Amino acid sequence: MATIIRKVESHFVEVPVTGVICGCGNHNPYGKEETPCHCGDTMYPVLPGITEPQLVKGFVEVSCNCGRKVQCSGMTTTCKCGRDYNWNGDLLASREQWGEETGEHWTAGY
Ligand SMILES: [Zn+2]
Ligand SMILES: [Zn+2]
Repeated sequence: MATIIRKVESHFVEVPVTGVICGCGNHNPYGKEETPCHCGDTMYPVLPGITEPQLVKGFVEVSCNCGRKVQCSGMTTTCKCGRDYNWNGDLLASREQWGEETGEHWTAGY
């Protein structure tokens, strides 16, 4: 069984705003000096100390049977050993097991 090490819920963190900003609300995080805005104004560097909330996506960290730590996010995360985990840290049936469950032997029924 894979052991769940920790679960991190999706949450917001305040991160410093960088780049340039305009009075119209337009914000370019990659701008540096004064940059012309599409509204015709000029965008100026953001004052230091201003922050904005940024979403940190949640994930589940599990300890795989092989000993590796796997961070599960998205639909399926595959460990380097080949085991698949879903977003909840549940071990998914391996491909070989799928074959065993569904594969029918030609002698079946005799
Ligand atoms: Zn503007
Ligand atoms: Zn593994």
